Amino acid sequence: MGYKEFKCGVCGRLEDRCDCIKYCAICQTDYRVRLTEDGQYYCADCREACGYKTQEEV
Ligand SMILES: [Zn+2]
Ligand SMILES: [Zn+2]
Repeated sequence: MGYKEFKCGVCGRLEDRCDCIKYCAICQTDYRVRLTEDGQYYCADCREACGYKTQEEV
């Protein structure tokens, strides 16, 4: 079984199909942003600080 795949909250596509401009919902950086369960993108630092996980980490 694969992992649960998250969908972008804006376009509704999976992360690897999402063509949205990706930036962290908290600090606005575009460095190392990944989609999380709530459909928003967060950078590595904010994910760690807030306990958000990427789809591979759940
Ligand atoms: Zn998208
Ligand atoms: Zn951030």
